[in-house]
Amino acid sequence: MKDREYSLNGYLGLVHQRKNPDTGTTVSVYHSEQAGMDASWGTKYHAVCEDHGALMGETSIARAKSAAMDSGAWCPDCVNIVKNKEKSRIDHFNDGVKGHENI
Ligand SMILES: [Zn+2]
Repeated sequence: MKDREYSLNGYLGLVHQRKNPDTGTTVSVYHSEQAGMDASWGTKYHAVCEDHGALMGETSIARAKSAAMDSGAWCPDCVNIVKNKEKSRIDHFNDGVKGHENI
């Protein structure tokens, strides 16, 4: 059985696109073959961080969608965004509790 043909916003193979609230970046899910991506490792779908161009191959749409919402775990630039957010939260916290920096 052939998969349905995906296309969204004029992009062939684009299944799904939204903003990752953690990083503020746009993340997409593509049907690998239809978008011309490598599906040879069973990575039938790809989660893509559009802002940084990082890719994550996944075996199902559901997995790719949840990976897309978690780009802070696999896109190197998103990892930094999440880290910096975390850091500024901790810095802010430490401002309030001087002397307890090693919590
Ligand atoms: Zn990213």
